[in-house]
Amino acid sequence: MHAQDKDTDKTRGRAGAAGPAARAAAPGAGRLQVLQRAAGNAAVARAVAEQRRESAEVQAEENVQRVTNGVTPVQRAAADGTKESASPVVSGAPVIQRAVWTYNASTRTHDVMGGQRSGVWQEDGNPQHIATSAQLGAGAQAHHGDKYDDATGRHFGSGNVAFSQRGAIPDTPQAHRDGTAYKEREAHVRQALVETKRRLATAITMVSASAAPSGRVLDALRSGFPGFQRATPQQIQPLLAHVAEVLRRIQTGLDAEGAQIALAGETAWYDLGALGSNQANVAGWVAPTVGERLNPHDKKSEKLPTMDAGREGAINLRSLGENVWYIVHEATHRFAGTLDYQYSPYEHELNEDRADVGTAQTLGWSQQKLEEYSADRLGKRVARDADQYTGQDESAHPAKQLNWYAMGPRALMNADSYAQFVVVATGGTLPRR
Ligand SMILES: [Zn+2]
Repeated sequence: MHAQDKDTDKTRGRAGAAGPAARAAAPGAGRLQVLQRAAGNAAVARAVAEQRRESAEVQAEENVQRVTNGVTPVQRAAADGTKESASPVVSGAPVIQRAVWTYNASTRTHDVMGGQRSGVWQEDGNPQHIATSAQLGAGAQAHHGDKYDDATGRHFGSGNVAFSQRGAIPDTPQAHRDGTAYKEREAHVRQALVETKRRLATAITMVSASAAPSGRVLDALRSGFPGFQRATPQQIQPLLAHVAEVLRRIQTGLDAEGAQIALAGETAWYDLGALGSNQANVAGWVAPTVGERLNPHDKKSEKLPTMDAGREGAINLRSLGENVWYIVHEATHRFAGTLDYQYSPYEHELNEDRADVGTAQTLGWSQQKLEEYSADRLGKRVARDADQYTGQDESAHPAKQLNWYAMGPRALMNADSYAQFVVVATGGTLPRR
């Protein structure tokens, strides 16, 4: 949140980047499941294939980026552990497959002197392949669940973040089994944070290219910032510096030593910084400044708010917000001054797509028939004039969707625009257009 007229970020049925269990709880999911059951596994298989293809595209983009940077895909660090020794690709040199490693702290053992040996890094997909932090050049401060990317030499960790508890969180044996106790929630958010950092790094690379955007990054830009639908790649290109600046600020903020994340439970009535957060659908919030409370930004205006809003304190997350989508969303409030001009209709649109594809599968339609059937829905996913924006974050369909497509340049300082951009640019499903 941060917002002036409301203090918390609500999911309103959206699962964001949460898992399938959360998605299944979305409105209309029951009907979709019936359709999918009727359609057999074909629609599901297609969706899975699409996700795989998207991941491959992101990987391909990263590889292209690396080649243009002239850096070897995998150049293991020299003995001194620095990455500066990575040498340019030499023609004819063998290409080593990229490897991602995950830190396993549970292998730590106490030796006879009472000292502690460190854990080990295990290669993803090949856990018998282990390495120490020194061998990888990953730095000594690894925390359980951290990731190390061989190709970029980057360590994505959660060890810098100070976690805390806000309000009452159940601590019963049942809560530990359900994963709703503090300890399990912190472990889960650490994983989500590491995943957020990896995706952020990829997204920043994608918007830092010197050429006009194309392919996946262009699609993701037009998805998160719908006004870009009306602009050519050449017109979008100069605005990428702004997008990159916001993303770099949240990357810096999340990487800072002592960055704060508070896991919120039932907060007390006298916790004034958490007012309104006990409603069931609240995902997270960041406290606004006193100045913002007294003098709210006029959201109807197309004049963008400052990135230097001066907000302080923790990113507060409730269980619904413990995923990549909301960590990006709240981090843009905390570190880059964004507002909630409009929440995204992303989950609503994905539900429409699943239902339409399921119907087409059930009835054996051609691609053309599906397009005719979906034309009305897709026709509503079109950028509208920015003066149609209502001046407030609409909570219900269809006003929500209409308002999203009418944000115009405001989207450049809209929290959910960055969450959607990062998620879909790095492999999340794009709504059809
Ligand atoms: Zn928000």
